[in-house]
Amino acid sequence: MLEMLDYSVIIPFYNEEENIPPMLEKVSVAMNGIDGSYEIIAVDDGSSDATFSRLKEGKQKYPNLKIIKFRRNFGQTPAMQAGIDHASGGIIITMDGDLQNDPEDIHKLLEKMKEGYDVVSGWRKKRKDNILRCIPSKVANFLLTYVTGVKIHDNGCSLKVYNAKILKQVRLYSEMHRFITAFAFLRGAKVAELVVKHHPRTLGVSKYGFSRIWKVFIDLFTLKLVLNFSERPMVWFGAMSFVSIFISMAMLFYRLIFWSSQIVWPGLILFFAFNAFVLLGYGLVCELAVHFAGRINYYGKGFDR
Ligand code: UDP
Ligand code: MG
Repeated sequence: MLEMLDYSVIIPFYNEEENIPPMLEKVSVAMNGIDGSYEIIAVDDGSSDATFSRLKEGKQKYPNLKIIKFRRNFGQTPAMQAGIDHASGGIIITMDGDLQNDPEDIHKLLEKMKEGYDVVSGWRKKRKDNILRCIPSKVANFLLTYVTGVKIHDNGCSLKVYNAKILKQVRLYSEMHRFITAFAFLRGAKVAELVVKHHPRTLGVSKYGFSRIWKVFIDLFTLKLVLNFSERPMVWFGAMSFVSIFISMAMLFYRLIFWSSQIVWPGLILFFAFNAFVLLGYGLVCELAVHFAGRINYYGKGFDR
């Protein structure tokens, strides 16, 4: 792929009209202080306030700004995905559009990247969100480390820098932008984290309620299952099938030896035997699905540095 620019800064905005002027100013100042060409990709995630007009006004002042507008609100993850699809920088920088992340930290993350990392993730060590937000986030980070092995304290921090080659193959949906570092890590990327500043939100309101917590945990659960099953589904289904047929056979022998026994009901023997075949069938169907999908998964296969 021909890269035209050095950096792409991707920022999703959903009803952030007050934040846009200071945000664009701070990001531009930060990026102008860094050697290399850049673009700012602002994604208007179907805002119903003046976000889009503020962005268009910004375009007069900041020629490096590109705007993507969604027809309706799709969510932060699809907004980031759209930004990634349109990015032409060799390094992609993502951040929130509400000034909770500090654009001044970008150069620190890029410096760290030069040490040979593919992803450098911000860590909001002194997080300025309320406790009800922070506790589920701590649990989710712990579980993500358990599921994927990535040792990052703060996966939910949007401020991160990536080698674009890694991001270009990742397909994000649901709330999965929080898992990008983990996906990259699973693909063999060298991942680092760096403490960054975090500010309380001063303008506008948070776009999330408690439903996010539920979605993130469901995504984690799905991720765990997909990681287990996607490589060789038959390994798992075959094992379950074997257990089922073993139970069926054990009950059958018990029944034959103790003919008069009422403990083992013949229906159960048939059930477990049948179940074993059903599980084998599922295993086969999944193997075929994985085979025909070309073993595509969330995090893709290799990438060249
Ligand atoms: N955001 C978005 N679409 C949404 C929700 C949020 O583009 O459906 C953007 C939002 O405008 C902000 C960033 O994602 O730039 C983070 O959102 P927010 O600050 O509400 O999340 P919090 O900091 O409360 O976790
Ligand atoms: Mg915020």
